Amino acid sequence: MNAQLLGDSGHEFRYIATDTRRISFPADTIFFALITARRNGHQFVADAYEQGVRLFVVSETPDAPIADATYLIVGNTLQALQQLAAWHRSRLQCEVVGITGSNGKTIVKEWLFELLAQEEQIVRSPKSFNSQIGVPLSVWMLQRNTTLGIIEAGISQPGEMQALQKIIQPTIGLFTMLGDAHNTGFHSMQQKLEEKFLLFENCAALIVRTDDEAIKKMAQTFKGKLLNWSRHEDAWLRVSNATEQGASTTVELQQGDTVFSITLPFIDRASLENAMHCVAFMLHRGYDIVTIQARMQQLQHLDMRLQWNKAINDCYILNDSYSNDFTSLIQAIEYLHHQSRNNKRTIILSDLSVATGETKQQYKQLAALLTEKHIDRLIGIGPGMKKYMAELPASSIETLLFDNTNELLQEFAAIRFSHEDILLKGGRNFELERVARLLEAQQHQTVLEIHLSAIAHNLQYYRSFIQPSVKLMVMVKAFGYGSGDAEIARAMQFNGVEYLAVAYVDEGITLRKAGVHMPVMVLNTDPASFNALEQYNLEPEVYSFDFLQTLLQWCRHKGISNMPIHVKVDTGMHRLGFDTAEIPDLAQLLSSQQELVVKSAFTHLVASEDAGEDDFTRQQVSAFSEACTTLQQTLGYSFLRHAANTAAISRHAHAHFDMVRLGVGLYGGLAGQLPVMKLKTTVAQVKRVKAGETVGYGRSGLLHRDSIIATVRIGYADGYPRNLSNGIGHMYLHGRQVPVVGKVCMDMTMLDVTEIPQVKVGDIVEVFGDHIGIQQVAGWSQTITYEIMTGISQRVKRVYIDG
Ligand SMILES: *Cc1c(COP(=O)(O)O)cnc(C)c1O
Repeated sequence: MNAQLLGDSGHEFRYIATDTRRISFPADTIFFALITARRNGHQFVADAYEQGVRLFVVSETPDAPIADATYLIVGNTLQALQQLAAWHRSRLQCEVVGITGSNGKTIVKEWLFELLAQEEQIVRSPKSFNSQIGVPLSVWMLQRNTTLGIIEAGISQPGEMQALQKIIQPTIGLFTMLGDAHNTGFHSMQQKLEEKFLLFENCAALIVRTDDEAIKKMAQTFKGKLLNWSRHEDAWLRVSNATEQGASTTVELQQGDTVFSITLPFIDRASLENAMHCVAFMLHRGYDIVTIQARMQQLQHLDMRLQWNKAINDCYILNDSYSNDFTSLIQAIEYLHHQSRNNKRTIILSDLSVATGETKQQYKQLAALLTEKHIDRLIGIGPGMKKYMAELPASSIETLLFDNTNELLQEFAAIRFSHEDILLKGGRNFELERVARLLEAQQHQTVLEIHLSAIAHNLQYYRSFIQPSVKLMVMVKAFGYGSGDAEIARAMQFNGVEYLAVAYVDEGITLRKAGVHMPVMVLNTDPASFNALEQYNLEPEVYSFDFLQTLLQWCRHKGISNMPIHVKVDTGMHRLGFDTAEIPDLAQLLSSQQELVVKSAFTHLVASEDAGEDDFTRQQVSAFSEACTTLQQTLGYSFLRHAANTAAISRHAHAHFDMVRLGVGLYGGLAGQLPVMKLKTTVAQVKRVKAGETVGYGRSGLLHRDSIIATVRIGYADGYPRNLSNGIGHMYLHGRQVPVVGKVCMDMTMLDVTEIPQVKVGDIVEVFGDHIGIQQVAGWSQTITYEIMTGISQRVKRVYIDG
């Protein structure tokens, strides 16, 4: 890498990291500080060091080199990374397939892996590591015992492929197809095609479809062995006929003198084309036709490929929120057209990614396509959609247009979906999987329904206790008390709540990534995540001098000033916080620095719900009030003061100060609130069991009569407490409460439904909700609602219901 060495030589490494969030074996890792449009990796060197990395490739000489770290100083860290990978590749003898093309790269790669893994030691690039950074990282994974490397190369502008070719040094080329994805960087299709073919410069063989004239011409310039397939007679592999039957297609083929046919479990054009590349590859690798035939039949649509999922209200959804270029859109619409269940057809579509200058044209084409394929409804998301699709020529298409995905989600409840085939398609940045989640809410599993209108109602209820000038902070810690953090946060943002609070930095990051931009307080920040605090604009609680000093030093080191903090005062909880006696010193310290600025001071009440402790609560409140006065006098500026949790909002108006912190009450965890969470499961099996038999583990569930037993799909791993075994817990179905019989298992629970002979498999069972309150379940389990709510495991699907 022509690097200048600073520090010890003789370090060994096996792993390369360019992102400190993805370091698994720090002692064996070399960290490349890459400079990209979005960030400068040099800012993360300290973070990597803290994780245990000691070897760094940098382009900026460190001002204060860390004593036991070794730096390799180079002119350009990305180039160095690429050089290293190319050197690694040149030492290996294995066959390497270099795949490029506009669409289908990842699918062909994954399919080749599935088809050949029995015989080959394959290393393939992870998901879509196909860029200037991803390719060297992929190539680095090739090992001495690898027999076949399958590496994807993606480019977005001229000049990039040459660099990738040098790193991959493919022995076999595979060109999937030329579409118009990422056209923006190129003057013309021809230029793009020529650039892509640079990957194949030194390949011994090339697999390519040559039905297109431009591609055929390009392929003829290839110097190695051309393994082209097409309908033309002169092709290496000739496709003479294709017949569709049900969900499969049988293709008649000829290679040399051999005529044969292969049945593929697909009918859509893109899958057939991708599969044909694989057939050609297997033939080239010497596989016999019987093996090829057998294995091709096993191929499946990959997850990211098109498939129907059952959705709400008898809808079906095709989730293709993976890319949104025009070519793949056409394919998806074709698929919808072919595979439709004769329902109403709806397309939910984000802005197209189109070449500059062709925008209007493409949207016009889209409109024509929608009409031609008899699409009934378009739900468009994004400014482009709004601009160009507002006046669709065909009035037969119902059109709903939104500026962004959040706007659609907010309106979601008002849009009626029923008996529809829905195609969901859009760029990744639109996060359409959030829409898919709402649509796919299924009935045949255990779900936790979150009723957003009940949340709004509860919010209103608690607001009614506070003066209009008092602000509201909502606690969304612990995954929003189990009900979902981002969803709740977005609802709060929508409802004009002023502040959010989370327990840990990671929880705050989740909110930011979900597009939540309100201020977020973090109760418990680990100094290791200070960088993230700053990066995601989160505001820490400061609770001790130790913590405060660490934070101050970090700010000074980073040159940060005016970072918002929240001072925690301990008035009796004795968990975190400054003692009231420490406040004068704290005030002195805070007033003599510029790095931190106090946004608020707060305390936590320990028994605000308990009338028997009201004296203590008053004591806490007055101690806090005094502390705030001291702090404010010394600081010379004002800040928000807050003390009240849910119970204090309704019981202690004197504790409201400038802001209150609403938690459990919002989520319906206190008696008198509308239930927000409804946990539902389904019956998996119904059995008739004789008196004298036992049900479940340990034989504790002894039956005293001939019984009907229903097994339901929920257990302690889902958060249904095991101490509800043997008749303690009850669930509700067919208008009755029925007891748990035997022990609650990990994934299942048995109910005694002898009184309900009509019970059948698939019946919906309420674990808690309208008929059995969550308070009731907590009572049976001898705990508090908080624990039941937050204990519902992440594998239980959350479904958000509005209205
Ligand atoms: C959790 C929490 C709350 C909310 O308490 P609820 O009883 O759920 O209203 C308020 N303040 C702090 C500091 C908390 O940790």
